Amino acid sequence: MKAAQFGARLARAQEAMGHAGVDALLLSLGADLPWLTGYVAMPLERLTMLVVPAAGRGEPTLVVPELEAPRVVPLPGVFALQPWAEMEDPIGIVTSLVDKCVGGSPTLAISDRAWATFVLRLQATLPGARWRPASEVTAPLRAVKDEAEVDALAAASAAADRVADALLAGEIALVGRSERDVSVEITHRLLAEGHEKVNFAIVASGPNSASPHHEPGERTIGPGEAVVCDFGGTLAGYCSDITRTVLTGPPPGELLRIYEVVKEAQAVGVRTAQVGELCSAVDDAARRVITEAGYGPYFVHRTGHGIGLEEHEDPYIVAGNSEVLVPGHAFSVEPGVYLPGRYGVRIEDIVVATAAGPRALNVADHALTVLDV
Ligand code: ZN
Ligand code: ZN
Ligand code: ZN
Repeated sequence: MKAAQFGARLARAQEAMGHAGVDALLLSLGADLPWLTGYVAMPLERLTMLVVPAAGRGEPTLVVPELEAPRVVPLPGVFALQPWAEMEDPIGIVTSLVDKCVGGSPTLAISDRAWATFVLRLQATLPGARWRPASEVTAPLRAVKDEAEVDALAAASAAADRVADALLAGEIALVGRSERDVSVEITHRLLAEGHEKVNFAIVASGPNSASPHHEPGERTIGPGEAVVCDFGGTLAGYCSDITRTVLTGPPPGELLRIYEVVKEAQAVGVRTAQVGELCSAVDDAARRVITEAGYGPYFVHRTGHGIGLEEHEDPYIVAGNSEVLVPGHAFSVEPGVYLPGRYGVRIEDIVVATAAGPRALNVADHALTVLDV
């Protein structure tokens, strides 16, 4: 990423601040800060905060603990760096930066994930300010990925696909191993494929597959079971997230039918994700396939979530979201059916809306895969 790209993002953020009536943006923990500066703040009791005044009211300044300043890649012309020494008061520094550039009774938008301990102290030192969540300014901007971001998401998805391919090819032993063992192997494979960090590796077998966010545990995977594997991590800052459901032997009961229904719902969801469609329409299209097959009450979550620097961000593919898809929106399409106490199926890909139609970044096979490993 070049300084010019960060500079362009900053200009867009300041334009959005103007529309939203925000006088300054105060960015601490969370993905807004790296999106604007490339710098990830440490989640520590020492305050890191980027103060971004509205356009024309001064230079953005990154207030950072002196001992962490060496990790900041300076971007002259984008932001100034103000390290604070161990005995200085960073709240005082941020307060005076705000007073200097916006004064009086400003409207301040602060990171959704800033620690309450800092927010409360800033509220005490800036008693005239009105407070808003930074996401009101940043979320719609971050939701629309530029070309470099789509490339980064595609690289992360391709790496996750290679792990999914290994799973589907039977290269990851399942039967007789604990969910936790398999989860650890998937984690190692994601790292070997280039992820710097693994965010989750859900392995849910047998009746556990009916729990969408099951925590992999000591259960031993048996033959003839559904195994939902949902995993993702971060590669060059951007997230992957893929789910495949495999069977360890001939499918019990309705499982075969459920698999085909979920597969169809997922494909219909992806096809519906055209530029100009509502986010809610994508959820509705996928859900209708499942409802018409009689499993509506067993699809217990939204169809998808946006993805980028964070695993879950705007736009959410959910009923009631009247946001319109535009080129660059990146999100998951991940319908599932879960019969409590019995089994579940989920299939998930990351998709980008483009002028030429929806582009699935995950291409690992969707066909029902029966393994004897
Ligand atoms: Zn999830
Ligand atoms: Zn997932
Ligand atoms: Zn997901």
